[in-house]
Amino acid sequence: MKPAPFDYRSPATLDDVVTALAEQPGARVLAGGQSLLPALARRALRPPLLVDLRAVPGLDRIDRTSQATLFIGARVTQRQIERDHALAGECPLLAETIRRVGHPQTRTRGTLVGGLAHADPAAELPALLVALDGVVHARGPRGDRRIGADAFYLGPGRTALAPDEVAVAVEIPSATTTPSPAVPTGTPGDAGGGTDDTGDLAVGGACVEVAPRATVALCGALATVARRADGTVAAARIALFGVAARPVRARRAERAVLDGGPLDPALIALLTREDLDAARAADAELPDGEGGTNGASGTNGAAGAGADGGDYCREVAGELVHRAIDRALVAAR
Ligand SMILES: Cc1cc2nc3c(=O)[nH]c(=O)nc-3n(C[C@H](O)[C@H](O)[C@H](O)COP(=O)(O)OP(=O)(O)OC[C@H]3O[C@@H](n4cnc5c(N)ncnc54)[C@H](O)[C@@H]3O)c2cc1C
Repeated sequence: MKPAPFDYRSPATLDDVVTALAEQPGARVLAGGQSLLPALARRALRPPLLVDLRAVPGLDRIDRTSQATLFIGARVTQRQIERDHALAGECPLLAETIRRVGHPQTRTRGTLVGGLAHADPAAELPALLVALDGVVHARGPRGDRRIGADAFYLGPGRTALAPDEVAVAVEIPSATTTPSPAVPTGTPGDAGGGTDDTGDLAVGGACVEVAPRATVALCGALATVARRADGTVAAARIALFGVAARPVRARRAERAVLDGGPLDPALIALLTREDLDAARAADAELPDGEGGTNGASGTNGAAGAGADGGDYCREVAGELVHRAIDRALVAAR
């Protein structure tokens, strides 16, 4: 099948991108095209206009502030992140996760921000935003705004971005304030460890996935922890993907980690189940049609956007969380 006819514009400024989106209802931002173009080819989407970001200067940059916060522009490709060795040290969870996304070919064109906007609940990238407590910077006709990870996802393929808004960048807090996994060791499920910039906290993290095929994960858990010199846990953040209509923050399990004590697998499984039940109840409350939607089925997993990984993934979620915490704690020594 071929895409339905559409117009194409490639504005030279961000303001012109916003104007184009506002002038043509149903228009879509085109970033790397890795998810959008297959959806067009399937005619799952029929936008009248594609607004390409390729000619907008400045969006292909990774910027750092003095607080070591990262700003990753909307045109920064996944491959660019993968090849930025400094970034691997600054935000190891990002470096570890990005190389699990798709294939080298898709990472060469696909952007991080596009993956966040695509909002596939069975994909790593939205869960990464939640695990890193990132903030999406958006621009629209009403001005600029920041959208925190907790508020960004509204359902499969649906975000808090309005149809006439463009995501300009994602802000990722420093590992000194937000624990993130350290340098990856190379194989799925491995954990990395390191010491944060202040030297006060050892930071570790892990991504544990169920991947029936080597490059496609069905579901998984991302965990980051920061430990003090005495071994107590100063911070913990856990996110799951492939288990609900949106990435799920495992807050009860986080609290158990912060409380210290032995990590009983049965307890973590129970707490994770409660987190999932709460997440699904919250998903059920979501109004239809609110916010933007990519309207497309996913391209990266058996579940795909529009579906979670089903009962199997919910069944193993507690074990995934337990393993991720366990490995993150070991790494943070
Ligand atoms: C074979 C394959 C395997 C994949 N495997 C994985 C995987 O394992 N894990 C994973 O997380 N992802 C995976 N993906 C998805 C991949 O990460 C895509 O690159 C990503 O979802 C979209 O990025 P993009 O830049 O290509 O965006 P596009 O395809 O251009 O856009 C995707 C959607 O986001 C919107 N959008 C894009 N950028 C913006 C913006 N700046 N502002 C507002 N809206 C925007 C578009 O309008 C569209 O609706 C896979 C994709 C493919 C094709």
